[in-house]
Amino acid sequence: MRKVDAAVIGAGPAGITSAIYLKRYGHEVALLDPMGVGGQLMMISDIENYPGFASTTGFKLAEDFEKQANGLGLEVEYTLVKSIERLEDGTFLLRTDVEDIQARGIIAATGAKHSKLSVPGEDEFEGKGVSYCATCDAPFFKNRKVVVVGGGDTALTDALYLSRLCSEVVLVHRRDQFRGQKILQERVRNTGNIHLRMKANVVSINGDTKVRSVTLDSGDVIEADGIFIFTGIVPASSLFEGLVELDDRGFIVTNGRMETSAGGIFAAGDVRNTALRQVVTATGDGAVAASSLDEYLSR
Ligand SMILES: Cc1cc2nc3c(=O)[nH]c(=O)nc-3n(C[C@H](O)[C@H](O)[C@H](O)COP(=O)(O)OP(=O)(O)OC[C@H]3O[C@@H](n4cnc5c(N)ncnc54)[C@H](O)[C@@H]3O)c2cc1C
Repeated sequence: MRKVDAAVIGAGPAGITSAIYLKRYGHEVALLDPMGVGGQLMMISDIENYPGFASTTGFKLAEDFEKQANGLGLEVEYTLVKSIERLEDGTFLLRTDVEDIQARGIIAATGAKHSKLSVPGEDEFEGKGVSYCATCDAPFFKNRKVVVVGGGDTALTDALYLSRLCSEVVLVHRRDQFRGQKILQERVRNTGNIHLRMKANVVSINGDTKVRSVTLDSGDVIEADGIFIFTGIVPASSLFEGLVELDDRGFIVTNGRMETSAGGIFAAGDVRNTALRQVVTATGDGAVAASSLDEYLSR
């Protein structure tokens, strides 16, 4: 069985930062992610709030992160961690789809995923007009009309992005106010081809071989070629159930040092119970988690 000092699970912004720090502390690190480097970065069209980069794409930032890691001799392993068990000597046994790995400490950086609307037509038309990723799918809707659902930063940013490609964007939000940043709200309101439907819920997504329309709870039917759903986030924490404390929404509970309820397991980024889920907070968490794990390993 392969033995390492630290296993970093997830190679999004939090995981890659942790791994870079741990490598610089001189530890043997396994950085594991079946998708390679990037995590949710790969879905971000424009990033304008990561210091040092006035405007960049998620893909470019992920590429830069990976280059920096490679320069330290750190390669991401395309590996899915399937289970974790604590051994009698206090170390951890990770069973993966490639091999078993024994690690003295773990950083949980498994991030989060979009949540679903759970309405008729959503699963049926996924990939046929239903999307959760504007960067991936926007080009398919060039000069077409789309519906965007949500009221947070992601919904607003992607409504703006889509408005540059699509003929019309209808932004549907269940409340009378958006949660997203004021500057984004202003931009949305000042964009001519974005139309708002506030206090409205999508109740079904309709079509034949692909999406043709969306029905709202008012009974209104909006003809559209696509629907982009940005309604919330679900933590990828099932791997840690029973090992560490999770909050009522399933996020890993940590203190300010990114320590979880289990010694030797630290958590960073979107998977933990944090006030803000962004690239900059994920990288910050990753650095703190690595520093705490370094201290744990040297004890
Ligand atoms: C559309 C969109 C737009 C966004 N725009 C911005 C923005 O403009 N600015 C900003 O700062 N933030 C933005 N964000 C948020 C930002 O991307 C996230 O906060 C950040 O990526 C979180 O990083 P993370 O490392 O915690 O998790 P993630 O990026 O989610 O990465 C987690 C990784 O863990 C891996 N993983 C999960 N389970 C396992 C397992 N069992 N074994 C191995 N690997 C596993 C996954 O494959 C994934 O690669 C946006 C997000 C989205 C979706």
